[in-house]
Amino acid sequence: MPLMTTKPMFDLAYDGGFAIGAFNVNNMEITQGIISACAAEKSPLILQISKGARKYANMRFLRHIISAAVEENPELPIAIHLDHGDTVDLVKACLSDGFTSVMIDGSHEPFEGNIKLTAEVVKVAHQAGVVVEAELGILGGIEEHVVGVKAEDVEKFLTDPEQAQDFWKRTKVDSLAIAIGTSHGAYKFKHEAKLAMGRIEQIMKTCPGLPLVMHGSSSVPQEFIDLINKYGGSMPNAKGVPEEQIYAAVTKYGVCKVNIDTDLRLALTAKIREVFATKPSEFDPRNYLGPGREAIVSMVRRKLQALNSVGKAEAVVKQWKKLGEPMPAYYKK
Ligand SMILES: [Zn+2]
Repeated sequence: MPLMTTKPMFDLAYDGGFAIGAFNVNNMEITQGIISACAAEKSPLILQISKGARKYANMRFLRHIISAAVEENPELPIAIHLDHGDTVDLVKACLSDGFTSVMIDGSHEPFEGNIKLTAEVVKVAHQAGVVVEAELGILGGIEEHVVGVKAEDVEKFLTDPEQAQDFWKRTKVDSLAIAIGTSHGAYKFKHEAKLAMGRIEQIMKTCPGLPLVMHGSSSVPQEFIDLINKYGGSMPNAKGVPEEQIYAAVTKYGVCKVNIDTDLRLALTAKIREVFATKPSEFDPRNYLGPGREAIVSMVRRKLQALNSVGKAEAVVKQWKKLGEPMPAYYKK
């Protein structure tokens, strides 16, 4: 059962020209859609859970849904990750819930405060054999409890390469989410998105060996926005990061992990709206959640292509075996 930390994944992704997709899970259909897509494409994956998802689904339910996904796919390298953790207590809860990776987001704290919080989480998590992602710089957009900077201020809060080096040395964090012009949610940009690729290059230079993470990287494909609007929705001016830019950030600049949440929500919503609009007498949830789940499968498969992670599962499992990573304590019970 290759349930692992992100280390074996990032070891290969770092200079392998691919990134690991980190997909947010909130319920059974979303989890099944993600896992079927990754099984079909033989892609390693990260299932990530936010504080809001823990609350919505009840962690005990989510944990069993995820365990079922892992059991059903014994060949697939999977990491279970906390998305945007904000306190040491939440991280500790995730450690006892069997997470293999946690994010602590102290990006809204002053620099020293972010270091202090992150270093404390690193200490606690490493003792449990769990890896830590932190964030430096501030993204735009809004997602759950994470409120970013306004679009016109994004430039000012990009990650500083020298600070990143200092941050990494002092916290011993395992990976770093950077602000390079991406933004959370479905309304990322007023005009065309432009990622600060040069900034990624600079951070790679000041922090050689540190895996970098992109948040706020959904593409918000226009065809899904059109479907939602056609079938009674109202999402004018939604805009994301074009998939070509994601592909470049991953293959050319070495980003190791890309978070995808909004695009899954759009795919599910578009499909459910379509069923409701075209079959108004339908009332069996399986007949709209089922097609919704299929829409998630196609969206995730499309993302795995953009991340160039298709077919990388086997190599990651090999690396995991080579490292001889122990199972997190939770699974030894
Ligand atoms: Zn995020």
